[in-house]
Amino acid sequence: MANIGEVFGAASAIVKGMGVTMKEMMSPTVTENYPDEPPKLQERYRGVHVLQRDENGLEKCVACFLCAAACPANCIYIEAAENTETVRISGGERYAKVYNIDYNRCIFCGYCVEACPTDAITHGHGFEVASYNTSTLIKRKEDMLAPVPPGVRPPVIQETAEASGH
Ligand code: SF4
Ligand code: SF4
Repeated sequence: MANIGEVFGAASAIVKGMGVTMKEMMSPTVTENYPDEPPKLQERYRGVHVLQRDENGLEKCVACFLCAAACPANCIYIEAAENTETVRISGGERYAKVYNIDYNRCIFCGYCVEACPTDAITHGHGFEVASYNTSTLIKRKEDMLAPVPPGVRPPVIQETAEASGH
């Protein structure tokens, strides 16, 4: 038969445990209501990459391949092309005609972001990329490119508009 000390010890542990439960019941909830509400992600969260534009709407990527060289998973594929007098896509001599990231292999390590000399590639907060079809996990430049800033028309778009008489 348990002695009186053990009974009091067990009762005190129950009271202490219930105290923690009551305290948590009174505190505000910290549960994320995803997918009914967007989750609150930290600024440093590493999600799907974003290819940034400069203040003139030009692509920041100059196709230097440093991100691809730094990638330990070898999942960045780039094809470079030259800007010309009539068609300018980036602020440098070259731009990425093709820029793919294979998210079947990406481990979100951030090495590509650290390696980029023009801050062209950054981590966004996109995370809803799970898929049963692995081919959808290869994201193209068009999927990752930041939108043109409001009120800015990149030169290549202006030329197209001028050529069409608008
Ligand atoms: S986050 Fe890491 S694994 Fe993913 S593309 Fe960048 S360097 Fe490669
Ligand atoms: S994203 Fe940055 S590091 Fe990668 S090719 Fe473009 S400019 Fe170079």
